[in-house]
Amino acid sequence: MQLYLYDNWERRLRLFTPLRQDWIGLYCCGPTVYDYAHIGNLRTYLFEDILRRTLEFNGHQVRHVINITDVGHLVSDADEGEDKMEKGSRKAGESAWDIAEKFTAAFKADLRSLNMLPPAIWCKATDHIAEQIDFIATIEQKGFTYITSDGVYFDTSRQDDYGYLARLNRDGIEAGKRVELGEKKQATDFALWKFSPTNEQRQMEWDSPWGRGFPGWHIECSAMSTKYLEPWFDIHCGGEDHIAIHHSNEIAQNQACHGTRLANYWLHGYFLQIDADKMSKSSGDFLRLQSLLDRQIDPLAYRLLCLSAHYRSQMNFSWEALEAAQTALGRLRDTYFAYPTGGEADSDYMMRFHAAINQDLNLPKALALMWEVLKSSLHDADKKATLNQFDRVLGLDLLNWHPAKIIIPEEVRNLVEQRRLSRLNKHWIESDALRVEIQQLGYEVEDTPDGVRISKR
Ligand code: AMP
Ligand code: ZN
Repeated sequence: MQLYLYDNWERRLRLFTPLRQDWIGLYCCGPTVYDYAHIGNLRTYLFEDILRRTLEFNGHQVRHVINITDVGHLVSDADEGEDKMEKGSRKAGESAWDIAEKFTAAFKADLRSLNMLPPAIWCKATDHIAEQIDFIATIEQKGFTYITSDGVYFDTSRQDDYGYLARLNRDGIEAGKRVELGEKKQATDFALWKFSPTNEQRQMEWDSPWGRGFPGWHIECSAMSTKYLEPWFDIHCGGEDHIAIHHSNEIAQNQACHGTRLANYWLHGYFLQIDADKMSKSSGDFLRLQSLLDRQIDPLAYRLLCLSAHYRSQMNFSWEALEAAQTALGRLRDTYFAYPTGGEADSDYMMRFHAAINQDLNLPKALALMWEVLKSSLHDADKKATLNQFDRVLGLDLLNWHPAKIIIPEEVRNLVEQRRLSRLNKHWIESDALRVEIQQLGYEVEDTPDGVRISKR
């Protein structure tokens, strides 16, 4: 079945055609590890996980790369201000290296909690300084750079189509934006290498042909995607904020170095909003996965919530919607768990599901099909088998879910047994009184065709 993806380079749905037969290159810009990821960041990684699962559902082998930005991302995207890592280090009172390690581990744990598949390759910017220096040196040899007193800059005036991904109107930017140019020639020019400040000691710095310093933020993605994929690979992803600056600059670097725009398809996840405002790490006031756990929300309820909105539309966060998703997930799990195994996936539902995900990851539609299966006239075992197939993409981990085992105190078990006997003897008043006694101990009894079910109240 044909797969269509919305490519932001061409701004249209395009039939997905792999560049090579053996694997598909998928590069996703990773987190800047100066703080925990917020649930907005996680929405973008969930979209990327669904994309990868969809590619695999279509029979492709995916070489999935996520980088870790642990140096060079400055507070301002215009290459001004402090490095986020050094700032985060001061705030936490720990070294930049330590916070990078701590927040990288926290990020990976978040991905696991959300049942995201681990990428084939994790790569850190600080482990690839030599590759970044080589990349910059090649761009320099080809005449795309200039040097100022604070770093090596990319000269965007050398490329006629600079910023095409964002449909950037350079003249408009030059005229309309009152940016502090400093020694930069154009507002759109960006740092490839920054020199360490002379008046303070940076924690993260390296020698280079241009002087001691650290790489700019964009060069790591060009260098690492080239190393682990190719200079020209299949799909590049990130959040919508990356279109105008980060991805436009990655493309400029690759055009200069290799004559490619990195990836054949450019896909972007749209933002999670909170009270109609974007959620951002730098504002300091954000929700992370732990904030949901603190409210007894299962991370997979957040996954389900994200599936209910298309990745190309912004999603407004609300606790009510999240709680509704948690209730729905509970219902889904209970129903699924009760179905017997040994059935077969229904081919008609499978085809409709496949068509939905292959239409630019139409997960809202795929979810609707999932609920439809539950209500359908299929045999229960076939429903289970169909849901198992759907879950390869949805990733709700139904197969591994089990109702929590509750340990019922002996006192309660005795009361339940007494109640069973009194019901057998049709002593209804006594059995009702026993039920109340059981409830007072915090348990609920339910009479089902399979016998008595006891649960915590
Ligand atoms: P960062 O750690 O800030 O570099 O961002 C990590 C990823 O999250 C990037 O792909 C961003 O584009 C994305 N992102 C940032 N804020 C949001 C948000 N509010 N909603 C969805 N994605 C976001
Ligand atoms: Zn990137």
